[in-house]
Amino acid sequence: MDRNLSLITPTGRLTLGNHLGALHRFVAAQDEGHDCFFGLSDLHALTTPQDPAVLRATVREMATLFLAAGLDPSRVTLFRQSQVPAHRELAYLLECTAYTGELNRMIQFKEKGRGVPSTRASLYTYPVLMAADILLYRPSSVPVGDDQRQHVELTRDLAIRFNHTYGSVFVVPEVTLPRVGARVMDLQDPGRKMSKSVDPDTGVIRLLDPPDVVRRKVARAVTDSDTGPSAVRPSPDKPGVTNLLEILGACGGSADGITTYGALKSAVTEAVVATLEPLQKAYAELADDPSYVDSVFAAGSVRCREVTASVLADATAAMGL
Ligand code: AMP
Repeated sequence: MDRNLSLITPTGRLTLGNHLGALHRFVAAQDEGHDCFFGLSDLHALTTPQDPAVLRATVREMATLFLAAGLDPSRVTLFRQSQVPAHRELAYLLECTAYTGELNRMIQFKEKGRGVPSTRASLYTYPVLMAADILLYRPSSVPVGDDQRQHVELTRDLAIRFNHTYGSVFVVPEVTLPRVGARVMDLQDPGRKMSKSVDPDTGVIRLLDPPDVVRRKVARAVTDSDTGPSAVRPSPDKPGVTNLLEILGACGGSADGITTYGALKSAVTEAVVATLEPLQKAYAELADDPSYVDSVFAAGSVRCREVTASVLADATAAMGL
């Protein structure tokens, strides 16, 4: 079975998009018996300013939600990136092989930070840390969406260059397309992805939103002025309605017989609330025992340290240190 590795950065609270597009997939990979590593990339969070207390709370909430969503620590490894020092150690070694010319070409840096004097240096080197995150676990393939594709291409380039210069240490991963999952759009702006880090979050359903908040957000979702008999249908020129139909389907509901936007929104609310209910119930129980959640992630981090130790040691020795 192939090794499966995914990290989520703890900036902002998890959304329905994260659930349907990521956690759901994680649980499916676990159930298929893959050797899975799912982590919180708390070091990546520091590439932009974070209030330490908020970061701590976000990490705890996300860790608890990983378990509440059905990830089973007896079958998968759950960890925090910062608790596995090999990530930052290998990142430094790789920084000593990466070229500034390569990092200058990274589109995310160009869009998010270049030219702004207060941009953190870590935002510039972030793709190298991501390369370390991947190469440490020797996955044969990395499924990524378009936004991360360039970073995984860089990971391949760094691995190939390192192996060529210092001897064969890294497995060069293939870049593959992720399994098609639900892509949830913002309820207020259906032209963009529902994101955990937008504020205000009126178009974002958080996993821990109570039913009345879900109802309010869905009720205010943008649709259009079509009042015809076939208004409720997916179409490229109806992004808001299409998104609501996708959410409804992904949450196990059906639009059969629905002809008005009011009825569609009621059905979406009901389906989303039903999807979130078991997760929120499990969350409430787990949140009563934070030391259990901490112990799960501490044990996962120990396993990561064991699994990655030889890769780090090989890379260190190969460079002459
Ligand atoms: P992000 O929240 O962008 O850090 O992404 C974390 C994970 O959640 C990635 O696997 C994303 O593909 C997934 N994800 C984030 N937002 C959405 C969304 N709106 N719809 C589907 N998947 C999403």
